[in-house]
Amino acid sequence: MKISWMRLNNGDYGFITPSEFNENEINFAKSKGVLLEMRYSRTANERYLANICPDCRAFVGDWFLFDDYIIEYMYDENLPKYDMGYYCDNE
Ligand SMILES: [Zn+2]
Repeated sequence: MKISWMRLNNGDYGFITPSEFNENEINFAKSKGVLLEMRYSRTANERYLANICPDCRAFVGDWFLFDDYIIEYMYDENLPKYDMGYYCDNE
């Protein structure tokens, strides 16, 4: 399944998940074939936008996104990467 997340090129390898995407970033991920839907997370006790498996509709919670996907793929040069431009927490 296609997973979207953003690496912050700020020197400390920070990243953000779809729950923190802005409208532009959400639409961009969707245009690349990523399925994003609002889901309720029992772990976090809240609803947020998450990556969804188009096959079984399971979602990847923020809690698991890092351990199960991001670490494994962070240094995979074959994965498509897109420059999303400037990002600021305040916007
Ligand atoms: Zn699935």
